Amino acid sequence: MTTNEIKSLDQQYLMATYGRLDIAPKSGKNATMIDADGREYIDFTSGIGVNSLGYCDEGWIKAVEAQLHQIQHMCNYYYCESAAKVGEQLVKLSGLEKVFFGNSGAEANEGAIKLARKYSYDKYGEGRATIITLQSSFHGRTITTLAATGQDVFHQYFYPFTTGFKHVPANDLDALREALTADVCAIMAEPIQGEGGVNMLDTDYIKAVREICDERDILLIFDEVQTGVGRTGKFFAYEHFGILPDIVTLAKGLGGGLPIGAFLGGAKAANTLGGGMHGTTFGANPVVTAGALEVIARVSKPEFLASVTEKGTYLAKALMDKKPSKVKSVRGRGLMLGFQVEGNPKDYLHDCADNGLLVLTAGKDVIRLLPPLTITKEEIDRGVEILANVLK
Ligand SMILES: *Cc1c(COP(=O)(O)O)cnc(C)c1O
Repeated sequence: MTTNEIKSLDQQYLMATYGRLDIAPKSGKNATMIDADGREYIDFTSGIGVNSLGYCDEGWIKAVEAQLHQIQHMCNYYYCESAAKVGEQLVKLSGLEKVFFGNSGAEANEGAIKLARKYSYDKYGEGRATIITLQSSFHGRTITTLAATGQDVFHQYFYPFTTGFKHVPANDLDALREALTADVCAIMAEPIQGEGGVNMLDTDYIKAVREICDERDILLIFDEVQTGVGRTGKFFAYEHFGILPDIVTLAKGLGGGLPIGAFLGGAKAANTLGGGMHGTTFGANPVVTAGALEVIARVSKPEFLASVTEKGTYLAKALMDKKPSKVKSVRGRGLMLGFQVEGNPKDYLHDCADNGLLVLTAGKDVIRLLPPLTITKEEIDRGVEILANVLK
């Protein structure tokens, strides 16, 4: 089928919830994608940070395929070797203690919210269930994670939302202290806000938040759905701050392209959820976790993580060296980059696509890049050439 044929079929039968581009990706290798009409693109998005090893990585295909030939699904009443092994790796890499597997970022955050509330309920009883999140955050599309999300545009139509969330400005300790009433059980934040604009959190702020949480026995939840699994040059972005959260959520990049979500609990919250308190049919799927195991084996290597940092620096510098006049500032870490631009970033996104480059936007004025962590310098150079021309 041609792109146009696929487009008409999609528009006839799928709900129009996405502002799609006229592109139908058909095949790909690493950061290079070919669409249904045979057009080639450099992909600086990896499907919103999901294809962490790029398109069709050989090692990943082998791992997934081997599992497909054995067992494709078992229910969670049985033990799954690859899921247990992914749990082992995540625990060893994180310094936290136990893992639960779901299927998406929103679900991971839902689980983290349940975990934090149950921890508090066990120790303090009812009335201590409020979770503080940050303005401009994004935590998912379920009714509860929309309520957690600190952006008003997400708080429409679907009333009633789950109660028990308060939003405070990021990097503002006074505002946080003011919001810290006796009913608060957790603080939830992205280490770098993704959808909200690639907004950084100050290390001093996070260290102070960690202290406040310790003093009051409030759980610190990091939503690393976008920042986790090597994206920022550390396996977990919280490693940049030199602190350990109580709960961490993961999803996007963890499966290398297959749907997976996870939440991890540290010393306080590892054993809070017992039999029958949480579950999912698809979570911990053997094929998906076999893919995740390969992603983790590759991405957790120190030299791989160092290459992510190096490539991120290289990309940002390559672009800025071309003095793109529309770019006002650069931020981010590793291969999570935000270029604050003058003008509408959506227009630039379309211009990039017309010229063979896929990018993302974030917030009101940011071009966001989340290339596959395995992107080559040659692919970076080709993408930067196009981006610089669009933003010149
Ligand atoms: C994408 C994202 C989510 C939601 O993940 P889904 O898999 O789409 O449910 C939650 N939090 C953050 C930080 C995200 O980037």
